Amino acid sequence: MDIRSLHPRRVLNRCRREIRTRAPSRFAVLCYHRIGPPGPDPWKLAVTLEHFKEHVEVLSEMGRIVELDDEVDRGRLRRAVVAERRFAITFDDGYADGFGEVLEVLEHHAAPVTVFVATGFLDQPAFWWDRLEDIVLRDQIPVDVLLRACERQEVVHAGVDLGDDPPSRRWLHDQLYSLFDAMPRREITPTLDRLAGSLGVDADYDGARPFTTEELREVAAHPLVTIGVHTVNHPKLTRLADHDALSEVEAARDELDGLLGCAVRPFAYPHGDANRATARLVGRADFDCAVTTEDRWVSPFDRPLLVPRLHPTDVGAESFRSSVLSR
Ligand SMILES: [Zn+2]
Repeated sequence: MDIRSLHPRRVLNRCRREIRTRAPSRFAVLCYHRIGPPGPDPWKLAVTLEHFKEHVEVLSEMGRIVELDDEVDRGRLRRAVVAERRFAITFDDGYADGFGEVLEVLEHHAAPVTVFVATGFLDQPAFWWDRLEDIVLRDQIPVDVLLRACERQEVVHAGVDLGDDPPSRRWLHDQLYSLFDAMPRREITPTLDRLAGSLGVDADYDGARPFTTEELREVAAHPLVTIGVHTVNHPKLTRLADHDALSEVEAARDELDGLLGCAVRPFAYPHGDANRATARLVGRADFDCAVTTEDRWVSPFDRPLLVPRLHPTDVGAESFRSSVLSR
């Protein structure tokens, strides 16, 4: 046996890890994105309004829907042992579509919600990943035609050998997603415009869109709504230098504070991409609650700056109930 493994701090850390993953939990945070017709939806971000209504009914039956902020109070997760299950509902990115109907459902149950907004997309006609989905997955443009257009627009290197077995549409979409995701934000829209233009895809995208500033102000004034921060450009924070990551977090915080005239506090990591270093950084930006997309219930021993969330998919009441309880 390695004597170092008996060091008290290591033993304590191991116990904490065990308790975090095994302790029975009574609190779960749910991570939604948009309400509406799913379409191709490669990342399963959409839930229909009908299913969302069923989800909220199920949560109300299984326990109480509470405010995320109340469960993570001043940097401490509530540790009281209570019999009642508690759920917090969150929405990421700042999709305007269907949000009026979402509020009606939540009002019916007096259920609070936290909406995490990526400020760089306010007033934009679309999120870039939805336009990419529209071009690659919705329109039935042959995959080889798409790929050659990407080469011409220098999105991918020229001369990709397709061989006898052309890549699948989904494969191409995922490759392009990674390329766009790593691109400086200012280059994404012009590149997508050029790509759509060269393929003859309608430039007037009419799918799901982000909030306008005015809509966000209205939503934020609703008594059941808390606004949270989701950076400016929605990058993977662990890939950025500390200085750039901190500036993404602080700039979005300051913009929302200014727009809404109040301090907005919870934070959601874009893509759920977080580690202990990014959590420290978010703490330095004065947040005391931050959520990831680690798909499990919250343990009373979780760190308030790394709170896991369940990711509901577009399923009806019974599948939703069993998927929530099984995680
Ligand atoms: Zn997001």
